[in-house]
Amino acid sequence: MSIKQNLQNIKSTLPNSVTLVAVSKTKPVSDLMEAYHAGQRVFGENKIQEMAEKHEQMPKDIIWHMIGHVQRNKVKYMAEFVSLIHGVDNTKLLKEINKQALKHNRIIDCLLQIKIAEEDSKFGMSAEEASALLQSEEFSELKNVNVVGLMGMATFTDNMEQIENEFKYLNSFFNKLKAQNSKLKTLSMGMSGDYKLAIECGSNMIRVGSSIFGARNYL
Ligand SMILES: *Cc1c(COP(=O)(O)O)cnc(C)c1O
Repeated sequence: MSIKQNLQNIKSTLPNSVTLVAVSKTKPVSDLMEAYHAGQRVFGENKIQEMAEKHEQMPKDIIWHMIGHVQRNKVKYMAEFVSLIHGVDNTKLLKEINKQALKHNRIIDCLLQIKIAEEDSKFGMSAEEASALLQSEEFSELKNVNVVGLMGMATFTDNMEQIENEFKYLNSFFNKLKAQNSKLKTLSMGMSGDYKLAIECGSNMIRVGSSIFGARNYL
């Protein structure tokens, strides 16, 4: 099936409240343009340099999301144009984003990445760390970042019950935080294999790559 058809199939099943981030990492600009011409505007990349190159080459009404792990020394390469950074998991990184956003006279939206998977390899902070960060004085002084929600990745497993439990845990934490902080609106969870379940569990932003663009040859 074509990229356009894949997009249409997915979109036809999504509630209006759910934002579809088309995860285009490793894919050529021609593939992204096919999605663009089918109406897709929100794209997610996991490497800053690759995103910056694609941003350079592509129409300027594209909304770029950084969904991968962010190294502090690379924030400067995306600060001018990135719309949402999903993977913020420490205060030092948030401070650097704030500093670079200020240079461009911007306020950059961010999500705090919460570790919900059981694997050690997944990045993210605990719920306790995230609560503490949001309540800290340090955080209140960062005027050029806007934390608008949470992001999480479930364990890489076929066990849907485990994935469901992880999503439900994140959703309940999100609802608890939301009651204290009215800025929180976005819950980014769900990928090609589990986005339907994620939406049932409260997600309103899904990050879908292979179901749109086909399998990737490399990470
Ligand atoms: C690659 C990636 C996705 C998309 O994965 P698919 O299984 O191809 O949909 C989603 N989120 C993150 C953080 C990713 O790195």
